[in-house]
Amino acid sequence: MSQPLHKNSATGPRFDSVLIANRGEIAVRIQRACRDLGVKTVAVCSEADREALYVKAADRFLCIGPSSAAKSYLNMDAILLAARLTGAGAIHPGYGFLSENSAFADAAEKAGFVFIGPDAKSIATMGDKISAKRAMIAAGVPCVPGPDTALPEEAVAVEQIALDIGYPVIIKAAGGGGGRGMRVVPEAGLLHDAIALTREEARQAFGSPALYVEKFLQHPRHIEIQVLCDSHGNAVWLGHRDCSMQRRHQKVVEEAPAPGVAPEIIAPVGEACVQACRQIGYRGVGTFEFLYEDNAFYFIEMNTRLQVEHPVTELTAGIDIVQEQIKVAQGLPLALTQADINCKGHSFECRINAEDPESFMSSAGVITGLDWPMGEGVRVDTHIHAGYKVSPYYDSLIAKIIVHAPTRAQAMETMRGALAATRVDGISTNIPFLRALFEDRSFADGETDIHYLEKWLTLRRTL
Ligand code: ADP
Repeated sequence: MSQPLHKNSATGPRFDSVLIANRGEIAVRIQRACRDLGVKTVAVCSEADREALYVKAADRFLCIGPSSAAKSYLNMDAILLAARLTGAGAIHPGYGFLSENSAFADAAEKAGFVFIGPDAKSIATMGDKISAKRAMIAAGVPCVPGPDTALPEEAVAVEQIALDIGYPVIIKAAGGGGGRGMRVVPEAGLLHDAIALTREEARQAFGSPALYVEKFLQHPRHIEIQVLCDSHGNAVWLGHRDCSMQRRHQKVVEEAPAPGVAPEIIAPVGEACVQACRQIGYRGVGTFEFLYEDNAFYFIEMNTRLQVEHPVTELTAGIDIVQEQIKVAQGLPLALTQADINCKGHSFECRINAEDPESFMSSAGVITGLDWPMGEGVRVDTHIHAGYKVSPYYDSLIAKIIVHAPTRAQAMETMRGALAATRVDGISTNIPFLRALFEDRSFADGETDIHYLEKWLTLRRTL
């Protein structure tokens, strides 16, 4: 499916082997892209992942620490040492772990490795939600109403800012991520408690107490734009995705394109995103996340890395995003312009999690039996197999089922069939919940907002 996006480079590739500083399905995905490009792979793993098949399938592998992520996948020194010992030329951080850590990107480049991602400065600017908002305002990208500065300490000044925005407001940690470090404040009386709680959470979880405040939008959808940029000033956007199906601010189902968004409304936003990339000298893949309400887009944050949901864009745009990411890291210029990007059909992704379908408590154990769906327009990205032991140490994502069909209704039907054909024995998964969701009429009609899933779950519990 990959199209020739890059012109030939006179200088040749900057590396011929990639260390994948990650685990699970994304490690498998990156390995596949490397193999397709003829690039060698190095796997690093914790003791819990030592027996994983993808670890053994890599050209080389090294165990870098105990099961705890803090001592393995988040251990910068161990990863850089592994890269040196194995002679890797580049490091792919995947998503999560060190993927948005500017100190790691900097350390990797200083140690002589190509970091497959933007430079440390771009990660630092966009990783801090306040400086990202400032950069976006400067680039003409529309943002959620609220100041592009950190909340001051003085109580009276804070009260005035919230009053000027108008309640409800949302307090957010500048360094927040993963749906954490956010608190909605419905009325003035609850402001100071919300700030105190969020600040403490931010200090503990993100290492910085900086907070900011913005308008809490009541019924938005989450729509995001995927960009791809080379190091020669070329940038394209690859259409849009809708990730409104969320539980606790975390995405559960994603689709591309976002249903019901007129091309003339989204096109200027996509153009503003690539313009912002050129302005900040952004390199690699990235995602601009927006809230969309009453036909208007409001920037919330940028992810400076590959995202979990990148496959829905791959299937609609017909572009292998991970291969392109590796190629731009090799210094190759993009060969396609925006006019060449032509998204077709409709795609859905379901995140298959090892968790109880009712309580959502994570589940660990050995997979005793497994069936994946097959057939036209169905893709499964996973690292698990029969006999695989799902460990309690990491994120509960065990697979992604992605479908593609000419229309949204057909893609939904394909997903229903795919979920019906999937069987994971030995642990609990969220598959029964996903099957029920794909039978829901409002979801089928499209354009549901970010609060829909929580309401749907509450309603189901009371029935
Ligand atoms: P994270 O970095 O933790 O993913 P985001 O800033 O991307 O945080 O926000 C995650 C989700 O939180 C959004 O998709 C949306 O559901 C909700 N959210 C964030 N900001 C607002 C806002 N201003 N109004 C309403 N909902 C919001």
